[in-house]
Amino acid sequence: MKPKNVTRRSFVGTVSAGAVGTITLGGMQAFGASGTSNKLAILGGEAVRANKPWPGWPYVDKKVLEEIEKTTQSGIWCRIQSATGTVATFEKEYAKMMGVPRCIAVGSGTQALHTSVEALGLGPGDEVITSPYTDPGTISAILSARALPVLGDIDRYSFQLDPDDVERRITKNTKAIIPVHMMGQPADLDRFLQIAKKHNLFLIEDACQAHFAKFRGKMLGSIGDVGCFSHQTSKVVSCGEGGSIISNNEELLEQCYTVQNHGTSKQGRTETIGPKYRMNEFEGAILLGQLPTALERHVLRNKNANYLSSKIKDIPGVTPQKLYDGTEEGSFYLYTMNYNKEVYNGIPREKYLKALSAEGINVSPYITNGLHKEPWVENIMNRKEYKYMYGEDRLKQYKEEMACPVCDLICDEEMLMLWASGPLLGTQQDMDDIINAMTKLYENRDQLKSV
Ligand SMILES: *Cc1c(COP(=O)(O)O)cnc(C)c1O
Repeated sequence: MKPKNVTRRSFVGTVSAGAVGTITLGGMQAFGASGTSNKLAILGGEAVRANKPWPGWPYVDKKVLEEIEKTTQSGIWCRIQSATGTVATFEKEYAKMMGVPRCIAVGSGTQALHTSVEALGLGPGDEVITSPYTDPGTISAILSARALPVLGDIDRYSFQLDPDDVERRITKNTKAIIPVHMMGQPADLDRFLQIAKKHNLFLIEDACQAHFAKFRGKMLGSIGDVGCFSHQTSKVVSCGEGGSIISNNEELLEQCYTVQNHGTSKQGRTETIGPKYRMNEFEGAILLGQLPTALERHVLRNKNANYLSSKIKDIPGVTPQKLYDGTEEGSFYLYTMNYNKEVYNGIPREKYLKALSAEGINVSPYITNGLHKEPWVENIMNRKEYKYMYGEDRLKQYKEEMACPVCDLICDEEMLMLWASGPLLGTQQDMDDIINAMTKLYENRDQLKSV
């Protein structure tokens, strides 16, 4: 078979153009050298940072390109063609890095979560408690199994699922908790492990943002019954769309393999209900190309994040994400802070972000609607299978108890999110630009009234 002729040069061109497109972080105005002006850039002053690109993302190097070319030429494009292909090799390598016996790769983080939910036997009639402050993929995994996603509120400063609120929402039908390690930092695992044990629940770690993050000496994802990762483009180990599942329970992972292989086991028997979620060999190739250097980037992000936090903690009104005891390393997919408008004369976050962007630093409000406020809630209330499985009384009570006021406050007013996969691979000078811009806004906060 003759592969399509793509020259390396045209390929590199395509890849870097895409990367630049997604990675422009501010710095659009052509002001001179970084200034000492106290006038806010949004009011006509000189920007702290101008015309300086941030490190690109997704990560592409020669090894990544070689792996893609090798796969293209080999004609092995599907994992079932080879037991030693890129997907199988990635699974082995990733499991080793995670300190677990095995890993199953699938087509996305959402698929990893859904596969886990199915493999654990969760389905109609079962309730699964998770956070409203997460990617829609988390609840999609529960809904696809026709289980009921029950949403607990979050902690105001860690942005993580609140164990006390989770415990309050446990019913006789609750079968599992999915703590989400938001921003790639550990959720309150000490508490969740204890709650899961006490109530005999499965613990599914949504580690989709949390590659290489460490809690009490262990990798996130390897601590609960099962852990799920996303390798979507923006994530720190990425291949466009991809996902992986890890566990210390090899039998469960065998079941995960069967589920994601349209219910067909490694032995070739079609045994159970399952979608077809197999990762393809091109995705495996990109991941294999990224893995050898992924830890170097992880270390650099941690160094930059620690530096940022050590300075930002002294800037009033902006507080770096709260971490739980036992947290050792974060993945720093995102770097987040809590904004306190009282310190900024009541100026709402949107104006603060506009002024920060004018200084050349783009920070986002991130999730603007918790998942408890999205239309799927109404949708399942009106679905015949949900009415049949859970009963109208339970669904009515379910909807009434949906409130998550802390999540609303974070979404509406307080979250400050810096996408970190690429930007936190920058230099100390890049970090200083962020710190200087935030310091400038604080010192000149009176000017924010005129924004
Ligand atoms: C990205 C993400 C997912 C979904 O992963 P996909 O690969 O996009 O399907 C799930 N949960 C969290 C917390 C995520 O960040």
